[in-house]
Amino acid sequence: MKLLVTLTIALFISAINFAQQVINVEQKFHDHNGESTLSFGSRSETPKAPFIHITHVNLRIEAEPGSQVIYGDVRLTYKLSQEIDTLWLDFDSALTMSVNVVQVDFTQNSKYYRKGNFLVIPIGSKQAIHQTHNVRIVYRGVPNGPDIGSYFRSDNRHVWTRSEPYGARYWWPCIMTLQDKIDSADIYLVHPKEYLGVSNGLLQSVDSSRSNAVTHWKHTYPVAFYLIAWSIGDYAHITKKAKWKSGAINVENYVFKDQVFWVDSTHSELEKTFGLFDSLFGEYPFINEHYGHVQTSMGGGMEHQTMSHMRDLNQPLVAHELAHQWFGNKITCGSWEDLWLNESFATYLTALTYEAGFGDEKWADWKENTNRFITNTNSGSVFPIDTMNFNVLFSWRLTYNKGAYVLHTLRDQIGDKAFFKGVNNFINDPALSYGFAITDQFRAHMEAASNRDLNEFFNDWYMGEGHPNYILQYNLVGSKLYMEVTQGGSSGRSPFFEMDLTVAVYLNGLRFDFKLPITQQNEVFVETFGRVPDSVQIDPDYNTLIGLRDVREGIHVLSNASRPDLVSSAYRVFPNPVKSELNVRPILKSEEFINYEIRSINNALLSKGALESQGGSVETVELPVGIYFIQLKSKDSTTIYRFVKD
Ligand SMILES: [Zn+2]
Repeated sequence: MKLLVTLTIALFISAINFAQQVINVEQKFHDHNGESTLSFGSRSETPKAPFIHITHVNLRIEAEPGSQVIYGDVRLTYKLSQEIDTLWLDFDSALTMSVNVVQVDFTQNSKYYRKGNFLVIPIGSKQAIHQTHNVRIVYRGVPNGPDIGSYFRSDNRHVWTRSEPYGARYWWPCIMTLQDKIDSADIYLVHPKEYLGVSNGLLQSVDSSRSNAVTHWKHTYPVAFYLIAWSIGDYAHITKKAKWKSGAINVENYVFKDQVFWVDSTHSELEKTFGLFDSLFGEYPFINEHYGHVQTSMGGGMEHQTMSHMRDLNQPLVAHELAHQWFGNKITCGSWEDLWLNESFATYLTALTYEAGFGDEKWADWKENTNRFITNTNSGSVFPIDTMNFNVLFSWRLTYNKGAYVLHTLRDQIGDKAFFKGVNNFINDPALSYGFAITDQFRAHMEAASNRDLNEFFNDWYMGEGHPNYILQYNLVGSKLYMEVTQGGSSGRSPFFEMDLTVAVYLNGLRFDFKLPITQQNEVFVETFGRVPDSVQIDPDYNTLIGLRDVREGIHVLSNASRPDLVSSAYRVFPNPVKSELNVRPILKSEEFINYEIRSINNALLSKGALESQGGSVETVELPVGIYFIQLKSKDSTTIYRFVKD
C-alpha cells in the first residue's frame, strides 16, 4: 500500500451557493423553468439513412429579424452504398412548411409526399450506387414544432436556428442521423442589408448588389446535421486574434452592439483556454478555418461547429462551448444515449480551466460544490433513461455534472497519466476523429491507456444510479490502525462501487494517504500507524464522487477474522451476528436510561427507543439481512456499534 506524506494544507472553502453558477452555464432549453416532463415529441429513425452519405449541403435561407417566415432552397449531394427507390428526409412534422419544388438529379418537378416527420421522394428509376446524386427542395413557411422557441426564434434584433437534438427538421430538410457526417457545406443567407448573416466555416463574400444582401459561408470539415446553424442579426463584428504557445487563430465575434464589452472581457481567458485544450487534447480541430461567437437570445450556448451561439461571453460558457469543438464536434456522440461524451467533457474541460488556475471558480470549490450538488439527490444515472425527454437528456445534474465528476473519478482511479493519455488517444483516434463515437469506444481507449478492465467502472458509474456513501470507523490497537469501511449505495437501485478509496490520516500537521481497495460492502483494513491519529478523512480533496463521508473515531474495530460480541468500556452488545434480539448490557452500573437508535449503513434512522438502566433487548426480527449500526446514548457518552443481521 502506497504511503504518501504531504503537509496539511488547510483549505478554507467558501460556501458558494451553487445556484448562482447555473446562470452562467449552457442551458440548451430555456423558458421551461419548473416544467418536468417536456417531451421532444416522437421521432422514428429516418428510413434508408444508413445507405446515404451526404457529401455536400448547399443551403440558401432567406430570413429577416421579426419575421417568422423563412424561405429555403436546399440541395443535398449524396452517394449511396445500396440502391434505394425512395429518399426519406426528416422535415417539418407540423406541415407548416410548404414545399414548392423537389428536383432529383436536376429533374424538374419530381414527385414527393409527406408522411409523419418525413418528406418522402420516390426516385423512380433506381440510382446507381457509389455515384453522386442530388436532391433539391425549395420551400417556405414558419418553422413550427415542440419547443420551437429553443430551435428557432425571430425578434426585432435577430433570427436564429439551433437544432440539437431533434430541431433541424423544423427548418430544413435533412437526415437526422448520428451515423454519418456531411463532408462540407455552403450556406447562403439572404437578408436585409442592415443585418449581418453568420454561419459555420469561413465567410466567403457579402453580395449587396441586389435589394437583399447575400452572405456566403463555407465550411469544409465534416459536420453533423445538428451542428449547422445560422443567425441574422443587428451585430457588431469584432475580430480578435487568439494566440497561444503553439498556435493562433482568428476569433470572429458577432455581438449585439450594446454588448461589445464582452469581447475584450473574455479574450485573454479564451486565449488561455485555447492553449490549455491544445496542450491537453491536440490542435484546435478546425484550425484551417476559425472560431467564433455569435450572440443570440438562447438560454445559454450551443456549440455550432466553428461558430458557437452564445447568450453572452461569460468565462465558463465560453470555455464550455470551445471544449465542445473537440468533444462534441470533432468527435460527436454516436447516439443520444452517448450525449455525455459531449456534455460531460465540455463540463469537465471547463473545470480544468479552474485547475489550471484561471476562470471564474477555484478548482477546490468546483469539486466540493459539484460533488455536493450531485449527491444531494440520491438517484439517477449519467446514462439517459429517456432520450425523448429534455429534462433527462439534458439533465444539468446528471448528463453534465455527474458525467464530468465520473470523468474526474475515473482520473482518480487510473491516475493522471493514464487518464490524459487515454482521453488524448480517444479524441485523436483517426477512426473516430471527425466522426462519431459511443461510450464503449471511449472505454476501450481508457482501458488501453490504463491497462485495466473498466467494464465494471462504466457499469457502476455511467450506467448505474446514484453514488456510494461511506462510513469509516477506526481505532488504534498497539501500533495497528484498524479501519472498518462500509459502503452503501445512495439509492435502492445503486450498484456496489468497486473502487480505490483515498483515506487521509492526519497526525501532528502531517497527512498520510492510504488507498484502500474497496471490494466488499464491509471490510476492515489494518495499517501500521504508531499513534492515535488527530483525525481521519475520506477523500478530502473530493477526487471521487461520494455522498456521505462519515468518519467515526474510537469505535471498537477488530479484524475481519474475529467478530465476537461487541464490547467497549461502556457496553456489551450481543450476539453478533444477530437474528431476532440484540442485547445491550452496560458494563458499569448506572441509574440512567439508555437511549438507542438503529441506523442503516446509509445512516437512515430505522428505529429508536430507550432501555432500562440495567440494559435490555432491542427487536431486530424485522430488519432485512445486512449491516446496521446501533447508537447508545447516555448522559455523558455516545457509543456506536456495527452489527450484522443474519
Ligand atoms: Zn454543452
